[in-house]
Amino acid sequence: MDRQIVFKCPATGMNVQHRLTDAPADVAETHISVACPACTRLHLINRTTGKLLGERLR
Ligand SMILES: [Zn+2]
Repeated sequence: MDRQIVFKCPATGMNVQHRLTDAPADVAETHISVACPACTRLHLINRTTGKLLGERLR
């Protein structure tokens, strides 16, 4: 089943909705790259939490 997540685009500060499709359980990666509609760049999103990778690093 698909899942909807919302993340905050670090470039524009906009909340962006993204639909996650369920990946096979044997996929090891925890982050996916999402083409952001707000800034047209790629963001790394944690598939489990829906949080942006490195959101609070700076
Ligand atoms: Zn963005």
